[in-house]
Amino acid sequence: MADHLVHGEITQLDLLSIAAHPDDCEITCGGLMIKSVRMGRKVGALDLTQGEMGTFGDKTDRMVELKAAADIMGLVYRGNLRMPDSAVEYNQENKLRVAQVIRDTRPEAVIVPHWEQRHPDHLACCRLAYDACFLAGLKKIDLNGEPFRPHKILYAYYYRNREFTFLTDISEVFDQKCEAVLVYKSQFGGNEQSGRIFEPGQDIVDLMQTRAHHFGQLVGVEYAEAYTIKEHILIDDPQNMPVRSI
Ligand SMILES: [Zn+2]
Repeated sequence: MADHLVHGEITQLDLLSIAAHPDDCEITCGGLMIKSVRMGRKVGALDLTQGEMGTFGDKTDRMVELKAAADIMGLVYRGNLRMPDSAVEYNQENKLRVAQVIRDTRPEAVIVPHWEQRHPDHLACCRLAYDACFLAGLKKIDLNGEPFRPHKILYAYYYRNREFTFLTDISEVFDQKCEAVLVYKSQFGGNEQSGRIFEPGQDIVDLMQTRAHHFGQLVGVEYAEAYTIKEHILIDDPQNMPVRSI
């Protein structure tokens, strides 16, 4: 068994989220992940750390919670590289560890954190994940398995970047996304401590609702998530693009 597997199985994925801490993927791209599962795609998540430096909860709590969240989202794979929380380093060893997961799961698309970040682990994760996708395709590199690179790298919105490339309608899965986030009871348990971790005084569901509703209004749907891609978008028939100009 691969040392990164903590839930589900090692299998070929359509979509893989790579994030620094358990609950990052649920909050930032849980909607698209759940939507992809509902489309019949095989979706997985890789967390770099166990979130043990969080103010509340410990490793054991977070591991139980991340497995429960994976079940709610319908993930077929969840991995964890057990890097030290708040000390994720951008180095060759870590790049190769993430690259091995890319080779093991061969995702067509990956979702990684955007590069404008407050938390240093999120930035390190963005850089490690991009480099890992590149390195996984090199024939002569010291990794197991056949060379492979994902077709698409999507950068999830982490509350800092002002620009993004596209929005995805998550109205139908928004409740399920909230359910997956609220499974992290150590973080958002509805007790006296909850709500003080993400942004002081703000309830996590309120925050997700406000942001997703704002993004949704930009494109005429109830709730949306924002993503960035670095490459250009090729459109065959511009006159049939969704969202009216006037
Ligand atoms: Zn995080």
